[in-house]
Amino acid sequence: MSALAFETALKGTQAYKFILSDLKMGLGHAYAVISSDDDIVDEFFTLIAASVYCENDNSACFTCAECRKILHGNNADVFHINENRDKIKVDDVSKMLSSVYIKSLSGRKLYFIHRADLMNVQAQNKLLKTLEEPPEGVTIFLGVANESAMLDTIKSRSRSIHLDLFDEETIYKTMLSLGYDENMSTVAAACCEGMLGKARKIAASPEYAATFNSALETLVSLGRSSDIVRLDGMIANQKNIGEFLDALSIIIRDILVVQKDGGMILSKHAYGKIASLAESYSPLALAKILGIINDTRRQLSLNVNALSAVDNLLFSILEVRHKCPKS
Ligand SMILES: [Zn+2]
Repeated sequence: MSALAFETALKGTQAYKFILSDLKMGLGHAYAVISSDDDIVDEFFTLIAASVYCENDNSACFTCAECRKILHGNNADVFHINENRDKIKVDDVSKMLSSVYIKSLSGRKLYFIHRADLMNVQAQNKLLKTLEEPPEGVTIFLGVANESAMLDTIKSRSRSIHLDLFDEETIYKTMLSLGYDENMSTVAAACCEGMLGKARKIAASPEYAATFNSALETLVSLGRSSDIVRLDGMIANQKNIGEFLDALSIIIRDILVVQKDGGMILSKHAYGKIASLAESYSPLALAKILGIINDTRRQLSLNVNALSAVDNLLFSILEVRHKCPKS
């Protein structure tokens, strides 16, 4: 097993290639690593630090003494700020800056500010001067989930690196490599919106798989309006109806894919049931159902009673299936 959960996936990213090429040319003063997936940013920071200090040709081998120091947090020239992703105030930045000008042993100091977008304006302004003229050998990395929270002056003084979302195949393989079974890995890859951190949370949560299966069973067993009474309470009592609706959307999109060309569907583990659902819905009906699911999300966000929103949803699904029959 890798030292980092997402090592292989991260080493394949453009973002990492960018860092490696800068490392050869000479690291810049400041970088903004942009991603809404906090877990992946944390690991990316560790990977960067290991690459900078690794004894084996900057390969982040995670076996040499320097890499091990990084993994155990024992490199005195590597600083992590706001690791618990809390608000960052001006005092926190002052504290950080008090060490910036102290000379390092290795000649290279790295500062990683986690969720730098949680810095208030005063804190960002305080950091600005150092970003403009950092001491020799200092590089500051800003983890940014929400770019709009960063001052333009900060953005213009740091190089932006977008950690792209990951494709499903990569996520699926990564989840398998972490020991999750095929079923969980598939569901996680399908539902994580390209975020590895989210995928791991989904894979680790038995409830998520149960939600997915109940969305699938709902479609399979929704035959006539009398079924609604049997199904609606079960759905309305879901701990997270939002996740239920997400799962439902994924299944509907998969049915469309199966009808179109039988190509890559997200929920591979449920192929049989999806293929048989594809027999009873027309493409037009499916497209309309996606819209109905969105309407249901909107109603719930407006605090419409969950049971009546779910009733509406199921009735509307039956109605479009009837009105837009499969030819
Ligand atoms: Zn190493």
